[in-house]
Amino acid sequence: MASSKLTDQSASVKKKMSSLLLIETPQALRKQVLQWRSEGLKVALVPTMGALHQGHIKLIKSAQKKVDKVVVSIFVNPEQFAAHEDFNRYPRRIGQDQALLEAAHADVLYKPDRTSMYLKGFATRVVPEGAAKGLESQTRPHFFAGVATVVTKLLLQSCVDMAFFGEKDYQQLAVVKQLVRDLDLPVKITGVPTVREKDGLAMSSRNAYLTPEERRKANGLYKALQAAAEAIHGGAALGAALDRGRQIMGLHDIQVDYFEARRSDTLEPVLVASTRPLRLLAAGFMGRTRLIDNLEVK
Ligand code: AMP
Repeated sequence: MASSKLTDQSASVKKKMSSLLLIETPQALRKQVLQWRSEGLKVALVPTMGALHQGHIKLIKSAQKKVDKVVVSIFVNPEQFAAHEDFNRYPRRIGQDQALLEAAHADVLYKPDRTSMYLKGFATRVVPEGAAKGLESQTRPHFFAGVATVVTKLLLQSCVDMAFFGEKDYQQLAVVKQLVRDLDLPVKITGVPTVREKDGLAMSSRNAYLTPEERRKANGLYKALQAAAEAIHGGAALGAALDRGRQIMGLHDIQVDYFEARRSDTLEPVLVASTRPLRLLAAGFMGRTRLIDNLEVK
């Protein structure tokens, strides 16, 4: 995508034909954002790993309602993938992503490379507890330290007023809110509701891995969450409602990783179905593809 070779730091900010700026170093990003903020403009960050879809676009649109300038980062963060996971095959579609960002009128595409994010000898990590315990961490124990580290770095690099994250990754959103509070980072975190395909499947870059047959059955995860929520509304005990959800996942050939109920605000485990606010969170394997989703119980 970058057409010319970078010769110095200022050259790493390049004006494109559209108003989308491509920025590739932390130094250039900070300079641009601080310039805007000195002019009284408000700036938001939307962190992503690229392979953008309408879920990401909704985060950008939500940010545009609140601030003057929106920075979208694309960085497939090696620190949050275990050796056996899909870092190498994670979809990378930078040309298409850039076109989507231009169409969405994003202001900056921040695309650091691995060596400018993790300098030689990098040895400091942010390791979250609390909201990071259980759920995703059971299967991916390395995951939230990788996420918390890169999000902390992106927030410190960008000096933005606000950052937007999807409720699709509900535990991640809780972990990010927790780290911002615990480490006194001067930024407001906003969650954005999940964007779904017509059949209910939560949009995800990883949905591209699904075969047509798997894709047909993948909305079973959302159906399972809905069925468990309905069971709770109908007066079922929590254990029975969760079992119903797991059963529906199985009926769609989704191997259950977890299917749990947590307090929405703290993510603490709950014992009774009458707890409010209550969120159902689930993950499972459709073939080799890991799907996650969640649903608020009203
Ligand atoms: P990712 O590129 O998958 O790391 O996601 C980047 C951001 O987009 C995260 O805050 C995700 O929670 C959010 N996101 C991903 N999929 C969706 C979706 N279907 N609806 C809303 N937000 C999403």
